[in-house]
Amino acid sequence: MTFKEFGLDESLLEGIAASGYENATPVQEQVIPLILKGKDIIASAQTGTGKTAAFLLPIINKLLASKQDDTVNALVIVPTRELAVQIAQNLEGLSYFTPISSIAVYGGGDGSNFSTEKQALSRGADVVICTPGRMISHLNMGYVKTQGLQYLILDEADRMLDMGFYDDIMKIISFLPPKRQNLLFSATMPTKIRDLARKILHEPEEINIAISKPPAKIVQGAFVVYEPQKIPLVKWLLKTTNLKSTLIFCSKKHNVKQLTAELRRSKFNVKEIHSDLEQSAREEVLLEFRSQRLPILVATDILSRGIDIDNIEMVINYDVPNDGEDYIHRIGRTARAETDGVAYTFISEKEQNKFRGIEELLGSPVNKTAVPEQFGPAPEYSPRTRSKSRHRRPGSGQSHGGGQRHGGSGDGQQHRSPQRSDGNQQRRDGQKGHGGHHHHQRKPKPSGEGSGAGNAEAAGI
Ligand code: AMP
Repeated sequence: MTFKEFGLDESLLEGIAASGYENATPVQEQVIPLILKGKDIIASAQTGTGKTAAFLLPIINKLLASKQDDTVNALVIVPTRELAVQIAQNLEGLSYFTPISSIAVYGGGDGSNFSTEKQALSRGADVVICTPGRMISHLNMGYVKTQGLQYLILDEADRMLDMGFYDDIMKIISFLPPKRQNLLFSATMPTKIRDLARKILHEPEEINIAISKPPAKIVQGAFVVYEPQKIPLVKWLLKTTNLKSTLIFCSKKHNVKQLTAELRRSKFNVKEIHSDLEQSAREEVLLEFRSQRLPILVATDILSRGIDIDNIEMVINYDVPNDGEDYIHRIGRTARAETDGVAYTFISEKEQNKFRGIEELLGSPVNKTAVPEQFGPAPEYSPRTRSKSRHRRPGSGQSHGGGQRHGGSGDGQQHRSPQRSDGNQQRRDGQKGHGGHHHHQRKPKPSGEGSGAGNAEAAGI
C-alpha cells in the first residue's frame, strides 16, 4: 500500500518520499487509517516495524488542519532520551515540508537547554517528545501550555513501566485536557500494560504486530561456557572475525565497564555506553559507532531497544538477557537493512535456565557452537527440561475485552505472526539529514528529577 492511498497531505507525502519510504509497513497500513479516524489505539509493535511513522504521519496530517497556536498539540512520552532523539529526527524528516514544529525534551546533559525547552513549552509547540521525569520538571513550574492538547502517545509503554515511570506518566496526564486521542505502543502486553490502557485509553482498537521472533537472516549461535571463559572467548571471537562493527551487550553497567577495560588492555579499539555517561558522551560514542569509526561497542540494555544503527555485523550477548523480549531486541540490532548478521550468546552455568526460557519464546533451540579447545573443557548444556517461562508472546492469549481487531488466527502473515517476523524488511534508513527549520532540540539537556537517565541508572543499565 502506498502512502498516497491514506489521503495524506502533499507536503507530508513529500517528506515521506524524501525519507525514502515507498510502501507502508503492515503496522502503518493498519494504524494510520484508525488514527486518522480519531480512534484510540493500543498496539503491540516493536522497533523495526515502522511504528514511529505509523503514529507520526497521521498525527502530523491532522495537525496540519487542526493545530492551535500557544499550546502543545501532541505529546509523545518515551522511556529514554535516545528514543526521544530518534523520534524527533524521524519527525523532522517526515515533517520537513510542513509547518509543524517539534521539540525533544529529555533529562541528562549539561543544563544549557532547559531555558530553550521552557521557552518552547510556554509558547506552545506542535509536537513534544519527552522523557517523563524531565517533562514533569517543566509541568511543575506551571508554564507549559497544554490547554489545547489533542494527542497523547505513549511509546514503548512496557519499557516505561519496567523503568518505574507509572506514577510519572499518570502525573503528566493529570495536566492534560481529558478529551484527547490516546495511542499506546508497547512491545509486550503484560497485565500492567492492560491496566494502564484501561485507565488512559477510550474504547481502543487493538492492533498486534509484534516481532515475536528475530529476523530469519540473523544467524544465531550460543557458547555454553564457564563464567571465566567469557572474556578470553570474546577476545577470540573479535580477533577471528575481525569485523567492522560489533556490539556487545552486558546486563549490568558494572560488567560493561569491566569488559571494556579488559578489551582495552588487549588493545582492542572499544568504547562503552551506559547510564553513567553524560548525554553528550553517549551521543558522541553512538556517532562514532554508527559511522564505523569505532568497531566495537560494549553496552547495557539501554541500547537494546529503539535504537536504529545500521550495518552492525555481530552482536555478542556477553551474558544472557533477563528477558526473552530483550534477547530479540538485542540481536535485532544486527541484520538490519540489507545486511546479514550474526548473534552469539554466552551462557554460563547459572544462566542456562534463563536461556532455556528464551529458547521457549523463540520456539526452537539456538544452535550451540563448540567452545574452541584452547579454552579447556566447557560445561554441558543441561537446563531444567521446561523452565517456567515468564516470557509471553506479545498479544498471545490475552484478549483485551473488546476491540481485538487483528491478530486472531487470521492469515498469520502480518499480524504478530511467529512465522513472519521480519518487520525489518521494510526498513530503510530514511533519515536524510535535513537541516531543521523547527525549534527541535538535540543538544544535551540538563537532568530533570527522576529523568529517564535516573531510572536507567537505578535499573543498573
Ligand atoms: P521504527 O519501527 O519506527 O523504529 O522504524 C524502523 C525503521 O524503519 C526506521 O529507520 C524508519 O525510518 C524505517 N521506516 C519506517 N517506515 C518505513 C517505510 N514505510 N518504508 C521504509 N522504511 C521505513
